[in-house]
Amino acid sequence: MRIAVVGAGAMGCIFGGTLSEAGHEVTLIDLWAEHVRALNERGLKLTGVSGDRTIPVRATTSPEGLPQQDLVIIFVKSSATEAAVREAARLIGPATAVLTLQNGLGNAERIGSIVGPEKVVAGVTSHGGTLLGPGEVRHAGRGETVLGELCGRLTERVEKLAQVFTDAGLEARAVESVDSLIWSKLLVNVGINALTAILRVSNGELVKYPETRELVALAVEEGARVAATKGIKLIHENPVAHCLKVAEMTGPNLSSMYQDVRAKRKTEVDVINGAVVAEGEMVGVPTPVNRVLTNLIKAIEKTY
Ligand code: NAD
Repeated sequence: MRIAVVGAGAMGCIFGGTLSEAGHEVTLIDLWAEHVRALNERGLKLTGVSGDRTIPVRATTSPEGLPQQDLVIIFVKSSATEAAVREAARLIGPATAVLTLQNGLGNAERIGSIVGPEKVVAGVTSHGGTLLGPGEVRHAGRGETVLGELCGRLTERVEKLAQVFTDAGLEARAVESVDSLIWSKLLVNVGINALTAILRVSNGELVKYPETRELVALAVEEGARVAATKGIKLIHENPVAHCLKVAEMTGPNLSSMYQDVRAKRKTEVDVINGAVVAEGEMVGVPTPVNRVLTNLIKAIEKTY
C-alpha cells in the first residue's frame, strides 16, 4: 500500500516505521526539518516494547511532488489537524482513506469537513510512545487498534485496513461504530491528563491519594453523564474504576498533557476536558469540574 503519515512524531513514527518494515511504500511527513533529515540520513531508531532497531524510512517536510496515496494517516496533535490535512490535500484522491487515531473528540469530523466524511476512518489505539529526539522514538506501550467508518457501517475498506495493520504487527480490528470507543478512551484522558499536568505528577500518583481519586472520579463522571445523555454507550461499566486502573497500570508514565506542559507546548485540552464542557453545553449537562480543569490548563499555557 502507498501510505503517507502526516505528523511523524512519536505515534507517526511507530505506525509509519512498522508499516514500512512490513513492505508498504510509506512516506513520513513532518514540519520539523532536523527530524526529517535524521530520519532520511540515519533511519528511524525505534526502541522499546517492539524491540530495538533502526528502520530505513523515507521522510519529507512537504507533500509536494508525492503521488496520491491509498492511505493517509493524520498523526499531528489535535491543534494542528486542520492545517496538516489542508497541506496534505494533494495526496488525497477519490480512493484515498484518511485515518485518524488521534486522541480527543472532533478530529474525525474536522478532517471530514475538509476531505469529505466518506473518506475518513477513525479509531483508537492502545499503542503509546515518546519522541526522544530527531529520528528517535521510544515505543512505550503496545495494544489493540480499533478502526471504524464514520457512517457506522462495517465496510470492506475498514476490514482490509485492519488486516493490513495486523499483518504488519500492529494488531487491529474493524468495528461498526467507533463512537463508544472514542468516548471510552476520551474519559480515560479526561481523568488523567489535565490532573497530572496541573499537579505535575506521573499517572500512578493519581491513584495514591483520596483527594486525587475523588478529582478523577468527578471529572470522569461528568464526562460519562454527557456521553449517556448523547446516547453513547461506554464500553466499561464503571468508567471511573477503569480510568484509575489505567492510571495504576501506566503508573510511571507521564501523560502527554504533562509532557506538553513541561515542554511549554500547547496541550490538547480543548479536545479532551474542553470537549466534555462543549458537548455538555450542547446537551444541557453541567460540567463545572471539566471547566475548571480546562481553564487551569489554559492558564498554565498562558504563563509559559
Ligand atoms: P508528537 O508531538 O510526538 O508528534 C506530532 C508531530 O506532528 C510532530 O513531530 C510535529 O512536528 C508534527 N507536525 C505538527 N504540525 C504539522 C503539520 N502541519 N504537518 C506535518 N507535521 C506536523 O505527537 P504524538 O505523541 O505522536 O501524538 C499524535 C496524536 O496521537 C495526538 O493526538 C495524541 O493525543 C495521539 N496519541 C498519542 C499517544 C502517545 O503515546 N504519544 C498515544 C495515543 C494517541
